[in-house]
Amino acid sequence: MASWTIKSLYYGKITVPKGNLASGLDPDLIIDFPYMGYLLQNGKQNILVDTGIHEDNIIDGKAWGGCPAQGGRKYVIEALEKEGLKPQDIDTVLYTHLHNDHAGGASLFPEARTWFQKDELTNLLNPLPTQKIRSDFDKRTPDDLKLLKDVYIIDGDMVLPNGLELYKLPGHTSGSMAIVVPTAKGRYVLTGDIPHLGISLFPKLDRMELLGGSVIDITPAPDIMMPYLFNSVIYDHYAAFDSYNKLKALAEEFTPQWYLTGHDCWIINRNFFG
Ligand SMILES: [Zn+2]
Repeated sequence: MASWTIKSLYYGKITVPKGNLASGLDPDLIIDFPYMGYLLQNGKQNILVDTGIHEDNIIDGKAWGGCPAQGGRKYVIEALEKEGLKPQDIDTVLYTHLHNDHAGGASLFPEARTWFQKDELTNLLNPLPTQKIRSDFDKRTPDDLKLLKDVYIIDGDMVLPNGLELYKLPGHTSGSMAIVVPTAKGRYVLTGDIPHLGISLFPKLDRMELLGGSVIDITPAPDIMMPYLFNSVIYDHYAAFDSYNKLKALAEEFTPQWYLTGHDCWIINRNFFG
């Protein structure tokens, strides 16, 4: 089996009431959530998953939903520098989805082979009114994608020759994609924002790690909210249920440690997987 290592990359952060991402549980709890990417390496390839938020999308220090935020392409460059890499060292970019906080740095990687789902492109070009109001997609992204020289627009699930597995998991967006990464330790799943946080897949969790490593108590979901804790940024709940059920089966085990989500602080604190 092909063996990969995974590093989490810190691209900045957004400060959001936890309740917004947890069906209203703990509405008064305000938490810094990281913008994130991942670096996948197998000794031959440097693959980047997601490219953060563009600096122009943070207006007066605020981003998505009017929440305080910091980030931008320099964060992406700095995160790669920490790993001893420059943008041109990235062979391949995989997008979990094309929301503004995941595809904002697309223009940094014009030469890289770039993969995303066909339905994600359709969603980007035809956003729902709610997606427009919240500026979920960056208006810049369609033009940024035109600059890319080697694009693979795929539809559905695939196993790549290098051992990575791609799964189309709609719900958060039409073409959200999870990536299964086989490592020496086992199979990790990069979930993108299906779900944003591990608590969505594991709603009975009663502790949450913050950026920096401290741990706080949180309210576990009541039984009526089970089996999954959805948030307000799911556009197709039927599809999301199917996607979560599929996610459940993809990892080494159905426990939180194997699910590397789009915005969980503990993943940034830990940095290395594999
Ligand atoms: Zn996100």
